[in-house]
Amino acid sequence: MTRRVEIEQAVPGLREYARDATRLRPVPGEPGVAESSVGGPLLWPADEAWPLCTDGDHYLDRLLTVETVWRQRRIYAAAEARAAATGKPYEVTDAERAELPGNDYSEPHAAARQAIAFVPVAQLYRRDVPGIDWPAGADLLQVLWCPLDHESTGYNPRVELRWRRAADVGATLESVPQPAVVNEDYLVTPCVVRPEVVREHEYDGLLPDRLRKQAERWAARRGLDYDDDLSVAPGWKVGGYASWALSDWHAVDCVACGSPMKLLITAASSEDDGAPRTPTDVVIGRGYSLYVFVCPQDARHPVGTAMQ
Ligand SMILES: [Zn+2]
Ligand SMILES: [Zn+2]
Repeated sequence: MTRRVEIEQAVPGLREYARDATRLRPVPGEPGVAESSVGGPLLWPADEAWPLCTDGDHYLDRLLTVETVWRQRRIYAAAEARAAATGKPYEVTDAERAELPGNDYSEPHAAARQAIAFVPVAQLYRRDVPGIDWPAGADLLQVLWCPLDHESTGYNPRVELRWRRAADVGATLESVPQPAVVNEDYLVTPCVVRPEVVREHEYDGLLPDRLRKQAERWAARRGLDYDDDLSVAPGWKVGGYASWALSDWHAVDCVACGSPMKLLITAASSEDDGAPRTPTDVVIGRGYSLYVFVCPQDARHPVGTAMQ
């Protein structure tokens, strides 16, 4: 029994504040459209338009082309692989450096004054993440975002979902539109996933005082920290609880029907499997997570988001 389950026997009141989450545990790879992935290709019907963002609320800072971001990541990965293979310090060669954009370089902001294609964020088959509220008949969830900052979403990417039945997708879209420019932090390096179900408990600030103290005492006696070890799991995940460590809790209600929304998926800046990793290359704010909430009345209502 893991500590995350054990604590509920010692502190039974916590059972009311427990949910299972599925950590996705992404690893860079080459996922296909028939697999769950983070940042991988989406099973997209040929006859359905790819989403384009025409919002006028983009906040533009450093813009790069998709090609530049991929080239930059290939160069850094090669330098890392050389260092690992030779034991020498990490070093980018002069020839490689000549291929990298300067730190101050940006594509002209005018490049963002056109419809910006969304990019794949995650594709999840129901068999890999059964524990969320799937709309009737759906067995495939796709998450995309516009890879620019939006003032209306707190300077975060704008997220859209597609719920599908995979068997209904016949011919798939051959050529996926690419955004003219991106904030590089929002271009997701394709990763395969290794789902793992973990028990989570409510963010400590949202527990009744007495229960929080009991849970913290139980954790401390075992050399653990409730917040770090027993509450919200690290990394990309589906379901579970959000942390509110950055802003304190605020309501996330559906703009279409007013219902309180439920956490669906978390896009994290890092993973922690004993040591920190950054497999997806996504950076949310200063290393935070973007929580994406879904309406429990109708999963097709617009999503809510919070950065924490
Ligand atoms: Zn946009
Ligand atoms: Zn709603």
